[in-house]
Amino acid sequence: MQNTVTPTHCPYCALQCGMNLTPAPDGSSVEVRERADFPVNRGALCGKGRTAPEVLSSRVRLTSPRVRDAGGALVPASWEEALGRVAEGLGRTRARSGADAVGVFGGGGLTNEKAYSLGKFARVVLGTSQIDYNGRFCMSSAAAAGNTAFGLDRGLPFPLEDIPRTGCVILVGSNPAETMPPSLRYFTELRENGGTLIVVDPRRTRTAEHADLHLAPRPGTDLALALGLLHLVVAEGRTDEAYVRERTAGWEETRAAAMAHWPEYVERITGVSVPELREAVRLFCEPEAAMVLTARGPEQQSKGTDTVGAWINLCLATGRAGRPLSGYGCLTGQGNGQGGREHGQKADQLPGYRKLTDPAARAHVAEVWGVDPESLPGPGRSAYELLDALGTDIRALLLMGSNPVVSAPRAAHVEERIRSLDFLAVCDVVLSETAALADVVLPVTQWAEETGTTTSLEGRVLLRRRALTPPEGVRSDLEVLHELAARLGGGRNLEKGFPTDPEEVFEELRRASAGGLADYSGITYRRLAEENGVFWPCPASGGPEEDVHPGTPRLFHDRFATEDGRARFVPVSHRPIAEEPDEEYPVLLTTGRVVAQYQSGAQTRRVDELNAAAPGPFVELHPRLAERIGAAEGEPVAVVSRRGRAVAPARITTAIRPDTVFMPFHWAGEGRANTLTNPALDPTSRMPEFKACAVRVEAVAAGEPARATPWADGSRPARRTPTLRWGAADRPRR
Ligand code: SF4
Repeated sequence: MQNTVTPTHCPYCALQCGMNLTPAPDGSSVEVRERADFPVNRGALCGKGRTAPEVLSSRVRLTSPRVRDAGGALVPASWEEALGRVAEGLGRTRARSGADAVGVFGGGGLTNEKAYSLGKFARVVLGTSQIDYNGRFCMSSAAAAGNTAFGLDRGLPFPLEDIPRTGCVILVGSNPAETMPPSLRYFTELRENGGTLIVVDPRRTRTAEHADLHLAPRPGTDLALALGLLHLVVAEGRTDEAYVRERTAGWEETRAAAMAHWPEYVERITGVSVPELREAVRLFCEPEAAMVLTARGPEQQSKGTDTVGAWINLCLATGRAGRPLSGYGCLTGQGNGQGGREHGQKADQLPGYRKLTDPAARAHVAEVWGVDPESLPGPGRSAYELLDALGTDIRALLLMGSNPVVSAPRAAHVEERIRSLDFLAVCDVVLSETAALADVVLPVTQWAEETGTTTSLEGRVLLRRRALTPPEGVRSDLEVLHELAARLGGGRNLEKGFPTDPEEVFEELRRASAGGLADYSGITYRRLAEENGVFWPCPASGGPEEDVHPGTPRLFHDRFATEDGRARFVPVSHRPIAEEPDEEYPVLLTTGRVVAQYQSGAQTRRVDELNAAAPGPFVELHPRLAERIGAAEGEPVAVVSRRGRAVAPARITTAIRPDTVFMPFHWAGEGRANTLTNPALDPTSRMPEFKACAVRVEAVAAGEPARATPWADGSRPARRTPTLRWGAADRPRR
C-alpha cells in the first residue's frame, strides 16, 4: 500500500523550506524528504528541518492540559477544567483591574491565521491594547527603517533567486551558513557567477569564510561603518546623481551627515581599516547591480532603525534600490516572522499591515469584525515593555508560541516579572521554561498536524498542510481561542467570530487585509496549493478568473510605496551603544545562534541528534583574552554584566575579536545568554539591544573563587572605553 505523501514546509526558520512528509501506516514515525519542486530550498534541508518530526512524538510532549494545584504543582486536568480556569483567570483580572490589565503575547512562529485570530481575540474579546509578540525582537528595526524609506516593509523586495545574478552583496550581521544553511548556495552561486560577497560581522563566521571581503567591526558600530562607506561613495564620485534626483528625496541632508564621517574617524570607531572601507566601496559600486541584506546584527541595537537606515541610504545613493537585481532586504529570522507582523498581533497594527491609529484602517477592520470602530483599543506596549509591566499594570497574561524566559533580554528580570503575575496561561507543545511557570498550560497541535499559511522572508505566502492526525488530548490554537471567546463573551456568542477551520479564518483575513499594504485578498488556499506560494501584495481582481493578480515577486521597480513614489533618505549619525565598556565591564558581549539549535530551543533541545551536535552554551573568546583571564579550552568561564552572571565552557578561537565574546542564546539555566543582555530600546522600533553590551569575563576554576579580568582590578590606567588593541595579527580567522 502506498503511503500518503503530503507536501508542506518546515516549522522553523523564515526560509520555510519545502518538504514532503510521509507517515508510516501505523503512525509510529514520519519520513521527511526534501521537496525538489519547491524553488527556494531546491531539494536541501538543514538538520533542524530534517529532524523536525522528532518533536511530534517526543516523550516530553504535552498531551493533556495542566493546571496548578493547591500545593503548587502542575497536574493533568481535563480541557473543560483548564479552559474554565483560563477564562476565569483572564476574566477576573479584566473585571477587577480593567481590560488593559490583561496582556497577550504571541510569536513569530504562529501561522497567519493564528496571528490574525490572536490580535482579534485581544481587541474584540478581551478589549485590551496590551498585545505584542516576540517578532518585535526579530525584525522591528528593519521594518521601521523600510517603512520610512520605501513606504512598505517586506523582508526581501525580490526573490532569493535574484541573488546569484547580481554583482555584489553586502551581508550585514547575518550568518545564513548557520541560521538557514540551504540559502548559502545563493551566495556561492553569486561568486561562481563572478559576483562578490562582502560579510560584515565581528566574528569570522562560517558565512564570512565564504566572503571575498570580511569586515569585522566592533559590535554596535555598523552605523558608523555604513556612514563611512557612504562618505567614500560621495568622495570618490560614485553617487548615482540621476537616480537620486529622479527617485529619491532628502539627499542633501543625508549627504552632509555622511561627509562628517571621515574614513579615518570611522576606522577609529569600527576597527575596520580605511583600505578595507575603500575596497568594500569599490566592490559594491563597480558592478551594474548590487544588494545590501541585513539581519539581526545591525537590527538588534538601541539604534537599530538608524543603522538599517544608514545601509538603505547607501543603496539609494548608489541607485541600488527598486531596480532589477538591486535592492535592500532584511533576512527575517522566525518561520512566520514576516506574516506575523502583518496581521495584527503587533501592538500598533491591524491586519493588512494597517496602522491601529488610522481611523480609516480601524473602520475597515471593525466592519470585517462586526464591531464598532470606537470599541477597538489603541496601540499598546512593545514586547519588552509589556514583559516589564507584568505583575504591575498587567496582572494576567495569555501567551502563545513564545518562551520569553529564555529569549527576552534581561531574562532574569523578565522571569521574575512573569512569576509575579496573578495569572499566566501558556499554549505550547512542551513544558518550556515559561510554560513551567504557568497556572494553566494548554497542549496544542504542531505544524504537521494542522493546516495554515506562513509568509517567508521573500514575502511569499505558503500553505502548510496537515499531514498527521494530532495525538488525542491536544487542540489547535484556533480551537483554544474559539473556546475562550465562548467563555469570555458574556453570552454574546463571540466564538462565532473565531472559526476553528484555518481556511475560514484565512478567508476573513483576506477581507481584512484588502486594500492594506500587505494585501492578501487575491490569495486563496487553492492558489497556494497550485502555485507553490504567492507573493504579496496580491489584491483580488474582482474580475473573471483569468484576471487573477499574479502576486508581486519584485517591488519598487516602477515606484516606491510612498505617497509621491520616491524613496526617502533619512539623515543619521553615529552614536555609541547604550552601554559602552568601562573599567568594571571592559569586554563586549554579542549573542546569536548555532546551526543545530533554533531560537529559545523549546523544540530543538528536545531532539537527540541536535543536542548531540550542540549540547549546551559556550563562551567564544579570543586567545589573547583567554590568556589574560587564565581561561582554558572547555573550562568554565563566567560572563558578568550589570544584569547578571552566566557560566559556560570557553571556546577559544581566533575567529572573534579580542575585545568581544560571543554566546549563543538557545539555553536556559546558568548558561542563559539573555541573563546578560541589555533591554535598552530603539526609540522607534522598540527593539532591545541584544547585540552589544558591556561584560566582565572571569575564569572559573572548580573550588576556586572567580578570577577577574586583569584590567578590571585597577592594574591598567583608566580609559573611558578600554578596548583591546586591534592589530592585523588579531583579525578574526579560523
Ligand atoms: Fe527549516 Fe530553516 Fe533549516 Fe530550511 S533552513 S530546513 S526552513 S530550519
